[in-house]
Amino acid sequence: KLHNTILELKGNIRVFCRVRPLLPDDGAGSEAPVVSYPTSTESLGRGIDVTQSGQEYSFTFDKVFGHDTSQQDVFVEISQLVQSALDGYKVCIFAYGQTGSGKTYTMMGRPEAPEQKGLIPRSLEQIFQSSQSLLTQGWKFKMQASMLEIYNETIRDLLAPRPSSTENGIAGKQYTIKHDASGNTHVSDLTIVDVCSIEEISSLLRQAAQSRSVGKTQMNEHSSRSHFVFTLRISGVNENTEQQVQGVLNLIDLAGSERLSKSGATGDRLKETQAINKSLSSLSDVIFALAKKEDHVPFRNSKLTYLLQPCLGGDSKTLMFVNISPDPSSVGESLCSLRFAARVN
Ligand code: ADP
Ligand code: MG
Repeated sequence: KLHNTILELKGNIRVFCRVRPLLPDDGAGSEAPVVSYPTSTESLGRGIDVTQSGQEYSFTFDKVFGHDTSQQDVFVEISQLVQSALDGYKVCIFAYGQTGSGKTYTMMGRPEAPEQKGLIPRSLEQIFQSSQSLLTQGWKFKMQASMLEIYNETIRDLLAPRPSSTENGIAGKQYTIKHDASGNTHVSDLTIVDVCSIEEISSLLRQAAQSRSVGKTQMNEHSSRSHFVFTLRISGVNENTEQQVQGVLNLIDLAGSERLSKSGATGDRLKETQAINKSLSSLSDVIFALAKKEDHVPFRNSKLTYLLQPCLGGDSKTLMFVNISPDPSSVGESLCSLRFAARVN
């Protein structure tokens, strides 16, 4: 399969671009489209062109998904990567893009509509199905889930029991990140739940979504300013061969990448803005350093990169979705996102 060839050629980091459809609220009017890309029939589309003020900019990614690409079409392209977590790999899949570009649609989708389910529910279904079928070969798997968000460089446990929680998480909880010698990450006080079925995970995802919105003015507003990190730890042991595997699947819905002007912002907004800028640029620096095999990788510059350090370096696998809005009024942000992702690429 060509899909595999690309994976090998590109090493451990790949970038997929996804353009969402135009929505009724977009300010399209009669303006000419500003984003062009192959249609889904050209299944190996990798190029995307953006026109701003008469100037055309071209980008190439490992894959470009247009507005007519279904959730299933996207999942087909990542299912092998998800599968490798069961083989013992550490995997990170990110969604990057401005608010409203389709990050949450790509990751979570609309869980109530089966064909619109996103990568998180589809990945988990596949992992549970595969782990069931591997039972016949003697494999037994243990799965553990955690869900957190990073807001203003502070971790919030989204599965913490509710009563004692406060605006900034649980009083007295530290959420200190430590990595042990064998590459396992420990976050102190973080809730980790053993999961045996897709139903259990679905209910945890609902709990996390609820926890994210509690005490916040507006769900979308808040979620666009924090990073959501879903982690599934997979330990497998084969009773026949005594072979063992330890894989990790991280699925991350990043904070909105829109350029937040520092001039107008004050107080909490300024702090938020600085935290988002810092963590997204750190992520870019880390992935770029890894792609170029540089000796120094600045993992420690942000909570997000430090948390994910063992899952970004070494023989781990990373996939970045860069989500793009086709709205002409977003063309500046789209170019910024594409440039960010092209640097990573
Ligand atoms: P973000 O998380 O980046 O802020 P959302 O995922 O919330 O953006 O998407 C913004 C809106 O666009 C939502 O109403 C979402 O349902 C819709 N949308 C995004 N991507 C698609 C898509 N590929 N197909 C259909 N609707 C989409
Ligand atoms: Mg979102």
